[in-house]
Amino acid sequence: MKNMNNFNYLLSDLTKLTGVGKKTMEILKKKKVSNIFDLLWRLPKSYTDRSLTSNICDLQVGEVQTIKITPIKYQFPRIRNLPNRVNCEDETGKIDCIFFNSYEGYVKKILPLNEQISISGKITSYKGRYQITNPTYVSKNSSLIETVHNKYSLTEGINEKTYNKIINQILKNLPSLTEWHDQEILKKFDNESWNSSIVKLHDPKNIDNYKSSFYKRLAYDEILASFLVNSEIRKKIKKIKKISKKFTEEPYDEITSKLNFKLTNDQKASLIDINNDLNSNSKMFRLLQGDVGSGKTIVSLISSLNVINSGFQVALMAPTEILARQHFSLAKELFPNNISIKLLSSKSENIEKKKIINELKNNKVQMVFGTHAIFQKKIIFSNLGYIIIDEQHKFGVRQRKLLSDKGGNNCDVLLMSATPIPRTLTMSVYGDMDVSIIKEKPSNRKEVKTYSKLESKIDDVLNFVKKEINFGNQVFWVCPLIEESKKIDHQSSISKYKFLEKIFPNKVALLHGKIKNEEKEQILNKFLNKKYSILVSTTIIEVGIDFPNANVIIIENANKFGLSQLHQLRGRVGRGTKQASCILMFKSNLSSNAKKRINILKNSNDGFEISEEDMKLRGFGDLLGFKQSGIKYFKLADPIQNEDLFLLAEKEIKKMEKKNSSIHKYKALLKLYDQADIINDIV
Ligand code: ADP
Ligand code: MG
Repeated sequence: MKNMNNFNYLLSDLTKLTGVGKKTMEILKKKKVSNIFDLLWRLPKSYTDRSLTSNICDLQVGEVQTIKITPIKYQFPRIRNLPNRVNCEDETGKIDCIFFNSYEGYVKKILPLNEQISISGKITSYKGRYQITNPTYVSKNSSLIETVHNKYSLTEGINEKTYNKIINQILKNLPSLTEWHDQEILKKFDNESWNSSIVKLHDPKNIDNYKSSFYKRLAYDEILASFLVNSEIRKKIKKIKKISKKFTEEPYDEITSKLNFKLTNDQKASLIDINNDLNSNSKMFRLLQGDVGSGKTIVSLISSLNVINSGFQVALMAPTEILARQHFSLAKELFPNNISIKLLSSKSENIEKKKIINELKNNKVQMVFGTHAIFQKKIIFSNLGYIIIDEQHKFGVRQRKLLSDKGGNNCDVLLMSATPIPRTLTMSVYGDMDVSIIKEKPSNRKEVKTYSKLESKIDDVLNFVKKEINFGNQVFWVCPLIEESKKIDHQSSISKYKFLEKIFPNKVALLHGKIKNEEKEQILNKFLNKKYSILVSTTIIEVGIDFPNANVIIIENANKFGLSQLHQLRGRVGRGTKQASCILMFKSNLSSNAKKRINILKNSNDGFEISEEDMKLRGFGDLLGFKQSGIKYFKLADPIQNEDLFLLAEKEIKKMEKKNSSIHKYKALLKLYDQADIINDIV
């Protein structure tokens, strides 16, 4: 089995290993270890030093020690419950090995009289005599136990000895892989090869040695692998040829003349990126990233009009129907009358739906708005040329790829997201796409003032709300999800509604997930038309909806939300010209860490900065939304600790893209680290 000189050994299943039977394999499978490679990343937590430590006379009670002894006499008592005992000695003293619940035959076998044997275990002392009870490591072949043994966090059913044997076996049989990095990169990691790095990773002396070259090399390997895959997907999409879209500047002037504001420079620049892509003859796959309220919608609508003018149809998909309707209404206002646009809503009459479906098929409708329902099988476009997907940051790389394929070659794709992610993660999350970023906020925006308040101070909050309402302003009152879990003490939006309704009669509306869509829209429309002053709701207002007149948001139980989510919620206000406020309410005093986090929010209105700081405080694992985003968790690499490696990998990828160099030499790396199907058609 030794060295096949390729990586297949590492990808083979565990039965390839001697000593791993069905049972062990099943146990490990449950822990998501399905092949040999997977086992490499379960790192030792600590170790026990079983190197030959002592003569009997130097033994230290309470320590795990290893000694060479000679058994000289068995004592097998005839009384039940008394342990079997073996008197042993070396030239310096005596020690007893004690065995509870053991068979004489077994004891005789492992400790034959008058032969030198190595034993290891915790030393105790009883009536002035040294003892080792139930020694687990007993061997004639001293080299087997006189070593340092790793302690892994073991899975129930597998013991330390077996596990160490398995790992050592793998380390001994590591195939020698051809180096995939250039000299120059390798030098940065003291020329540590993959093999030597893996061996060092499992060397007990190196536990927690995050800063050493071997560790960094391995971290870099996995970062590069993830970036490479994304980059390849991107290159592949770019190779898809399409009919270029031809249009003039007119639609731009037509729309902007109807706006009461000027586009920001970033909006203009993004529009240029998008138009260039539409114009080109390769398929667009672009992300438009911009903080909440940065004005992405208008950019997408102007580009839609361009596509329509070039003779293609457009589909805009939003995560909720409310948002789809809002985009639809805006387009109705801004688009010339001769362009037919439709909203495909779940609540439309069947006849109406059928009509729209027919019109899409016959090219009588140029643009359709809706939720994911617009991508149902029964909906066939006559000439779809552009898909816009709003606020679907939870789509992972593979879902996006599917969507992009679905529209066909002539269909350009634009994703819009307000979820800012730390810079180091951009390539792993969005590396398959081109990215345009709107950083600049519209100039008429005032910063939202952010306060924190204890729930016991609710009277202050109510007074503040009263004042704002008297000025004709509107308020969002956000309660965490109702019925999310009965155990969690979440403030129910219903009881809050009842409470507020008593104080502000006829001025309060309630919105939560259980309310039917139709009713929801009525409520939102009434709120938009200022029929109500306060909208009590769960987080459904989080995504995208635009209410320029609302300038206060109160968020209850604010510690139930992540910082990025709070920032998104806060972004619902401050869209008009009035000073806006965000009040974060807490049930009890904040811990010092919570205070730090809230201060980040108070001091910054920049979603990127907030996500960056939040990641530093909370770690990368629990950043909002990442769990669902399909982004892979790294085995060793840490976006905070290894920022330099992420940047290095990014530089390397850019260099390769520029030179259009083949990634063939990374075949083993990609096969090992990204075992997904997508690799098959890349290398
Ligand atoms: P988001 O990027 O969060 O989707 P929207 O597109 O919903 O933001 O825009 C938020 C609000 O800002 C809307 O009311 C929109 O009309 C307005 N807006 C967009 N661009 C500008 C601008 N350049 N100047 C002023 N207001 C703008
Ligand atoms: Mg939006």
